This record gives sequence, C-alpha cells and structure tokens, in this order.
Amino acid sequence: PSKGDSANTRDVTALVGADTPNIARMYDYWLGGKDNFAADRESAEEIVKISEGRVLRGVRLNRAFLGRAVRAAAEAGVRQFLDLGSGLPTRENVHEVAGPGARVVYVDYDPVVASHAHAILARSDGVGFVQADLRRPAEILGHPTVREIVDFDEPLALLFVSVLHFVGDADGPHRVVADFRDAAAPGSHLILSHLSKDGFPQKMAATEQVYQGASARLGARTREEILAFFDGFELSEPGLVGPTEWRPGAGGAGPERFAGLVGMGVRR
Ligand code: SAM
Repeated sequence: PSKGDSANTRDVTALVGADTPNIARMYDYWLGGKDNFAADRESAEEIVKISEGRVLRGVRLNRAFLGRAVRAAAEAGVRQFLDLGSGLPTRENVHEVAGPGARVVYVDYDPVVASHAHAILARSDGVGFVQADLRRPAEILGHPTVREIVDFDEPLALLFVSVLHFVGDADGPHRVVADFRDAAAPGSHLILSHLSKDGFPQKMAATEQVYQGASARLGARTREEILAFFDGFELSEPGLVGPTEWRPGAGGAGPERFAGLVGMGVRR
C-alpha cells in the first residue's frame, strides 16, 4: 500500500470514479452544485430522507458559519488562511470573504476538487491550491505553494470546516490539528465545524451507514471529542455551539437544532 492508504479512504479510483458516492460531490449536491453523478445523488438523497431535509439547511448554515468566522478572523487582523478539506469551489469561498489582499491556500485530496480549484480559485494573486491529504501535515506545511503564500511568523487561520469527521480515530485527527497548531504563530485562529453524535444519535448512525459505501467513511464525535480539537487554543465567544447560535447577527439565533457543532479559537 502507498503512504496515503488508510482504512478511511479507498484509493484515487474511488475518489474520481462515478460509481462510488463521493463525499465532496455529495456535499456540493446539497449546496445546489452541478458536479455530481447518479451515485452521488442517490446517497445524498438518502441522507436528505434520513435527516428529514435538515442536511440541506445544515450545509448552508455550515457555509454561513465559515463566512462569519473568516470575517471575524479578518477583523481580528488575520490576513492568511489555510483551508483544509476545502471542497468543490462554491459561493463565498474564503478568499472572496476575507477581502482584498488576503492570502489563501486551499487544500483537498480529491482530484476532482483539485481540477476545479486550480481552474477557479488559483487565478487570484496570493491564492493557491494544493492537492494533499491533511492527515499528513508535514507535507502540507512544507509544500512550496504553502511556503510561498503563508508566512508562518504571522497569525494564520486554520480552517477544518466539516472535514474532520472524515478522519477516523486511527489516523489521529487530534494530532493532525495539533501539528498545524504548532506550526502557527500566536494569534492564529482555528475555525472548525464537526458533526456531533449527541443530538440525533439514530439519524447520525443511519447517515454513517450510507457513508460506508462512499469515498470516505463518516464518523461523528461527541462534544468532548470535538472540544479537544481546541487544545492550545482559547475558545472564542460563544464557544462550541450549533451553527445558528454562533454570532448570528441581527437576525438572532434560530430555534432549530442541527447535528453540527461549530467554533473558533485563538492560539495564545
Ligand atoms: N470545507 C468545505 C465546507 O465546509 O464547505 C467542504 C466540506 S466537504 C463536506 C469535505 C471535503 O474534505 C471534501 O472536499 C473532501 O474531499 C475533503 N477531505 C476529506 N478528507 C480529506 C483529507 N484526508 N485530506 C484532504 N481533504 C479531505
């Protein structure tokens, strides 16, 4: 087996193949994207049913959280962003939200994401894409594109948005985040969202079943396990909460409950 093999990812064929439901394309389908095949749509629709439609609102709330958190980090003076598991380019990509002059590296291991991202995202100055597996932080931290765009002496925002639930415990997800944290200067931000198994245990178990046949397995975590990703970061207000509760703005927090938890932390 090559270095990239693990129980959580099949192989590159599974990632690009039309017959295997692909986690990036399923997510994009829920967001209204067009880059998907029948197998992606079938699995995505199964999860729409299991979640009683909640997933459709959930992915939008997840993107909205990403936008608010990136703006908050930018307002705090962060000018560089490493978006790990960035997904297919969509609306309000990080460099669009962070504003002119922001430096952004998008990272994803999916070859389909890579071809779209290279075409769309990497046209702007100071914006790059690296096709890599985030389970190998050293490769990303040492990558020439990352080294060219990111100054590790300056605060950096690390985004792990809706991706770590695709990294199984055997791959040491907390160590992965810690490796990126240790490379980041004080004042760096962690922006994270993650599916939790606490809110809807049965629906989540059924959803995990659907992902058994997909390009990567899904594993929701407990609140405690998700909180542990913030080790070495000071959790910003309002803490680790549902996506409608995180700095909701003028509209106020909605009463809806979702399976995801979101949060931002600052490295002291
Ligand atoms: N972060 C984006 C967002 O929240 O809108 C996209 C989330 S999408 C659900 C998860 C993405 O993570 C997919 O594009 C997938 O290819 C990528 N991904 C999953 N495991 C990865 C890994 N080990 N290394 C790099 N990318 C990964």
